Amino acid sequence: MAIKAVIFDWGGTLTPWHNVDLLQLWLGYATIYDPTNADALAEKLNQGEASRWLRQFDTNGEVGTGVLDELFHEAGVDTSSAKHHEALKNYFACWDPHTYTDSDATDLLESIRGHGIKTAVLSNTMWPRTHHESVLERDGISHLFDYMLFTSESPTGKPHQSVFADVLYNLDVTAQEAAFVGDRLFDDIHGAQSVGMRGIWIPHSNIPASQSTDLGITPAATVQKLGEVLDVVINWNSQES
Ligand SMILES: [Mg+2]
Repeated sequence: MAIKAVIFDWGGTLTPWHNVDLLQLWLGYATIYDPTNADALAEKLNQGEASRWLRQFDTNGEVGTGVLDELFHEAGVDTSSAKHHEALKNYFACWDPHTYTDSDATDLLESIRGHGIKTAVLSNTMWPRTHHESVLERDGISHLFDYMLFTSESPTGKPHQSVFADVLYNLDVTAQEAAFVGDRLFDDIHGAQSVGMRGIWIPHSNIPASQSTDLGITPAATVQKLGEVLDVVINWNSQES
């Protein structure tokens, strides 16, 4: 089957991987929301986030990570307050340097689409869609996707089959007609290949041991750079004609 759609993970795939200190980023929030108890609040938010990623991993994505507001409510934050909005703005500003799109992305996406192949994003995330969209718009690539699924809007997450099925349905392609590009063997490659898609692995992310597993997963292809995805897809399709 020829590939008719290529679906991309976001962090570590469309963006180069960054080792980030998540507690430090939460301090960017907490020092504004509650300066006198910033350390304790940051720790609580960081723990809340970590426990959700762990739960998602342990349940194979059957339970997704939920949304940031759950963390805030758990930590006693008044999410309707002006202080919260100011703090959240700073939290995302602290994240900003780690969100820039890979320099290969624009050319790759335009080339794929130039071949009549659809493109999509499927990201495990607690962030709201609006923030993800603003990041992709900042980098000039948001118009290069036919569909985006952010799991903050879904009860499940990768590697659960439901999120891959959602994207395939919305792109109107079968699993055999789709490739998934990702940096995580378990969430991305295993998840995509378990529904019948072809996984293309970019192996340079420093995935925490607690979020990775070796299931003997063999990607359909491995590339060293995002831009190399085009050759893989074109090569597969040339074997079909
Ligand atoms: Mg990733």
